[in-house]
Amino acid sequence: MGTVIGIDLGTTNSVVAICEESGSEVIINPEGSKTTPSVVFFPPDGECVVGDLAKRQEIINPERTVRSIKRFMGCRWQESEAKREGITYPLKPNEAGMVTVAFREGVLTPEEVCAKILRSLRKAAESRLGRKIDQAVITVPAYFNDTQRQATKDAGALAGLTVLRIINEPTAAALAYGLGHERHETVAVFDLGGGTFDISLLEIDHDVFEVRSTAGDNFLGGDNFDAALANWIIGEIEREVGVDPRTDSQSHQRIRDAAEKIKCELSSLEKTEINLPFIVSDKTGPKHFVRTIIREEFEAIIEPLARRIIPPCKQALRDANLIPADIDSVILVGGSTRIPMVQRLVTQIFGREPLHTVNPDEVVAMGAAVQGSILTGDIQEVLLLDVTPLSLGIELEGGLFKVLIPRNSSIPTTASRTFTTMRDNQRAVTVHVLQGERKVAMENRSLAKFRLTGIRPAPRDVPEIEVTFHIDANGILSVSAEDLSTAARQEITVESIAALAPDEIERMILESKTHSIEDEEFAKRYEARQNADVLRDKFDHFLTLHGDEIDDRDKKEMREALEQLEASIDANDPIGIEDGRQTVMAYIRQYADLFYIHSMATQAEGGEGKKKTHHDGLPTGDSPSAPGEPGTESDDEDE
Ligand code: ADP
Ligand code: MG
Repeated sequence: MGTVIGIDLGTTNSVVAICEESGSEVIINPEGSKTTPSVVFFPPDGECVVGDLAKRQEIINPERTVRSIKRFMGCRWQESEAKREGITYPLKPNEAGMVTVAFREGVLTPEEVCAKILRSLRKAAESRLGRKIDQAVITVPAYFNDTQRQATKDAGALAGLTVLRIINEPTAAALAYGLGHERHETVAVFDLGGGTFDISLLEIDHDVFEVRSTAGDNFLGGDNFDAALANWIIGEIEREVGVDPRTDSQSHQRIRDAAEKIKCELSSLEKTEINLPFIVSDKTGPKHFVRTIIREEFEAIIEPLARRIIPPCKQALRDANLIPADIDSVILVGGSTRIPMVQRLVTQIFGREPLHTVNPDEVVAMGAAVQGSILTGDIQEVLLLDVTPLSLGIELEGGLFKVLIPRNSSIPTTASRTFTTMRDNQRAVTVHVLQGERKVAMENRSLAKFRLTGIRPAPRDVPEIEVTFHIDANGILSVSAEDLSTAARQEITVESIAALAPDEIERMILESKTHSIEDEEFAKRYEARQNADVLRDKFDHFLTLHGDEIDDRDKKEMREALEQLEASIDANDPIGIEDGRQTVMAYIRQYADLFYIHSMATQAEGGEGKKKTHHDGLPTGDSPSAPGEPGTESDDEDE
């Protein structure tokens, strides 16, 4: 296995690192810098430009310079309004409703733009090492969902990289510090970048990393400090010269650039000089602006913004059920944590000094490289930093796939859920264990199937059957089902949940994306049918108990309506179900008073009202359900 590069694909800056036996290093790009701005300039004709050169184009070509593209990875147009604010290049939705960059000559997906950045990082690493590189570990924020993670992977593929693993940025930071090897540790990863703030609390126990909670602010970062300082400079210029420099867009951009530079200088210097020659002009000619600024002035300007880091930190602690004293280490990530005031606030919040030894803007890429070397075996320690490649769950009556362990869960892990029966006096249920991302159970990969018998006869929806999934540290899955009232129990072990080729996993995830709309439909129909089923039950019960109080002709029609609904449910006919539901609802409205009293009474009796939380039913297994690709099927014990 060749070298695996670790990539921190940031919203503002990206970094690439390698970790080999000889040690680890952050790669210096052709411009001589360890961080590469995540900016791509697309000239109307010719090759695109990435990094510092692209960032410089922003002043004159804002509409062709793409920055902050990470925000739009795997992002639906409908959800993008706030993210589009301040974006100077054209965006539009594609047919799938996803955000794309829309230049006159053609459209680019965010994945394609990211691929340009990844390719340039890959090139930098190749020229440093003098050989080809085609494998990478890429980091993403802990809160990234499946679509966003997949988009990141796709971007890697477009850049000619096999993405061996997508890992969480805070996990990477902790890996770079080598935390958790020796002892159990709770770690706060404080990440303040260019445009986003993320706080993550991790639990690391013998090399198993678990994200306990995340919180943050998607609209807080160094850019906000730059803007605040730029506004202050503009005010000073106006006061001194009497001309608003914002009337000239290039002057405005120059001030913003100067603000960022001054901000960075004030992280290490107590004072610095703002020097903006020819920044404005009036009748008497061009004007210069020169002024010294001290750190305290800068801190007063950003303080209200900087304090916005406090509530998310408290939130993350609350969500993880922790107090500051529980935190063993605080890791700083992101260029903006170099600001002394930010460090002071972090120290105050967590009651301890953050770790300082790894550069905050390099730590994530370093961790990704460490993960890369673990995967290639360059680093000897066995890290059980493993996740489930696909979701694991069971088939419900009606064919819906119910996930118990979502994909990318770190293992070992356990999940339990209570199910019930779908028929009166149902004595057995079938637990069909599957793996995949489709909502239609039979489209997923069948891993095992077993029956639980000996369920106590009861009306449908009454038995409580607890299904538990456990994956141990070696990736072995065991599934058990237990009838909580009789303690009848059945268990099965599946050896090979991860025994899928990476491209197979890829294919299954991709398929779930291409079928997402029909899957959604399927789930909706399933839901509608379940709801109709509950309604039918209630209505039936109501008619049985209150038939006498209802007008005879109505009663006959109501019975007919009930039968029609029942038939439609059995036939799984969505239109019939909807019609039947409407008719039944009309009668319920007509007899609202009576029905209301009835529901109150049955709820008080602890009747049908009480089990709303778990009416997910398990199939009996009488009728053969067709698994996608049968795996290790074992039909343990029949009645
Ligand atoms: P992201 O994770 O969003 O890609 P980074 O972690 O690279 O971002 O952080 C970028 C931000 O850090 C920018 O706003 C930049 O101005 C700021 N930054 C970088 N170095 C310093 C510094 N020495 N002092 C203050 N801010 C800094
Ligand atoms: Mg970052």
